[in-house]
Amino acid sequence: MGFVSTTYQIIKKLEDNERTKIINVILKLRGSVLTAYIFPRWRRLPDNYVKHFGHPDKTIKPGSSEMAGFIVAVDRDIYDFSNLETVWEALDSISSTHEDLQFLYQELTKEMDTTPERLSAPLENIEAKIDELWEKGIENKFVREECLRDIESKVYRDGLIEVQFNPHRKSIVSKARVEKRSRGKELCPYCIQEPGREDYFWNNYVISANPYPYYDHHIVIVNSEHVAQYIDEEALKVMAEFVLSSPHYFSVYNGPPGTSILSHMHFQAGIYTFPVEKAKKEILNEKDNLRVSRLLDFPTRGIVVEEEIDKMRSALCPEGRRP
Ligand SMILES: [Zn+2]
Repeated sequence: MGFVSTTYQIIKKLEDNERTKIINVILKLRGSVLTAYIFPRWRRLPDNYVKHFGHPDKTIKPGSSEMAGFIVAVDRDIYDFSNLETVWEALDSISSTHEDLQFLYQELTKEMDTTPERLSAPLENIEAKIDELWEKGIENKFVREECLRDIESKVYRDGLIEVQFNPHRKSIVSKARVEKRSRGKELCPYCIQEPGREDYFWNNYVISANPYPYYDHHIVIVNSEHVAQYIDEEALKVMAEFVLSSPHYFSVYNGPPGTSILSHMHFQAGIYTFPVEKAKKEILNEKDNLRVSRLLDFPTRGIVVEEEIDKMRSALCPEGRRP
């Protein structure tokens, strides 16, 4: 057991529970610490937005970034409605409660198995290739670069919540569109070769730029097969290998039903520092270079798994491929 298997064991327990089964995951290398943020919740849409606007698309639709304190609003009125109180209430209400998570906290205080694990895929640095893919996407106008322009933002509680207004990103994930996709009425955007898209094949996945970015270098990492969205130990291993191979990028997984393209398994990645990275944590367990904590005084509940990777890296690369 190590970082990947510990993270997976946590996700599996959450997926088996009605009150915690919608899961968002962010993986990131922070200095020499490989970090996983796992956000469990029990519902998709926040009541206070739905009540206020009375429209299924007039709300924030929390995915990994929102659960991590970063709200992207594509409509002016949603941006104006979003402040410390409304965002906190929204995230707090969809998130599983500490009570819901009590069973997991108890499990996590038991003895941890920290036998080193091996990530077997080649770990060459792929950052230069991904950067190039991103720049080509902008050149070809495949990436709507305007999505990263004219952004307004406001920050609350010393950066624990950040709200952005991104007017150019408008309406790509409407309720109608998600339903159309789920009925198979729209071609899978990952399976068709969209004009201008550059693909990079890596580790049984296809990496390409996100045409409607809300992070710098926002890319998608798509399974080479058209299989429904899922996460398992192997997939988590790929996410970990991705951040170890491109250390400035994070990788995220949005679990069903909270993502717009559910029919084709994928992760996203980009370069960004999330508000949750500043949040308070309480350690639940610690052994060797592995540590498991829970978030405190943050609008969402979350479990954080961290591993110092210097020792891990030597276990990863027994042939000394990486200096
Ligand atoms: Zn597909």
